[in-house]
Amino acid sequence: MGGHLFKYMHKIEDKLTEVLLRIRQSALKVGRNPDEITLLAVSKTQPAANLRRAYDAGQRHFGENYLREALGKIEQLRGLDIVWHFIGPIQSNKTRAIAEHFAWVHSVDRLKIAQRLNEQRPESMPPLNVCVQVNIDREATKSGAEVEEVHDLALAINTLSRLRLRGLMAIPAPGAEKDSLHRLMLLYEKLKTEADLRHLDTLSMGMSADMETAITNGSTIVRIGTAIFGARD
Ligand SMILES: *Cc1c(COP(=O)(O)O)cnc(C)c1O
Repeated sequence: MGGHLFKYMHKIEDKLTEVLLRIRQSALKVGRNPDEITLLAVSKTQPAANLRRAYDAGQRHFGENYLREALGKIEQLRGLDIVWHFIGPIQSNKTRAIAEHFAWVHSVDRLKIAQRLNEQRPESMPPLNVCVQVNIDREATKSGAEVEEVHDLALAINTLSRLRLRGLMAIPAPGAEKDSLHRLMLLYEKLKTEADLRHLDTLSMGMSADMETAITNGSTIVRIGTAIFGARD
């Protein structure tokens, strides 16, 4: 085994430890219980071997953006107790494979996609956990439901029996993180005042650059890629 590879492999483990520590410290700083926060390791573009390194270091939740790439890794890592999260944009023709292979989908932004996932979720599997992705900064190029649509969309998704609506997800515009994450938290809290949505328990926000701000604003799942696996090509 080459010394270079050895060093590289250890890096993932060290970075994972470092990220878990950052999560812990940010939670304690604002009086939150660190155990309320799940680390989702975002492994897009990473080979299965790197996910395996993180898995061996204790990581269980992995997030993927591209279906074809994800299916390859799910196959390669079959038999491990990994919880797979789909976090990328969803085209209608991809819903069946997503419904059949993932435990969570963070990027549901329209009812049609939710209905397809609901119809296609196999009866042999538990309901699919979903978050509504919100276009929190009203960016023309970004996916996500518009802020005004979120309430009705959440109520509609909540009636679908093969889905389990868990909460909201967003990717803030660069530079606007602090304000955007705060507004997402307020939207989430408002949603939870709706009697049928009191059970919501997930705020999926925070990436490598804004993890601390997200935790300060109530994030329950941080989606971290580069801080664990290094820069993507
Ligand atoms: C890539 C990605 C992340 C992780 O971003 P990093 O900056 O690498 O931590 C989180 N969420 C989504 C939706 C992503 O596409």
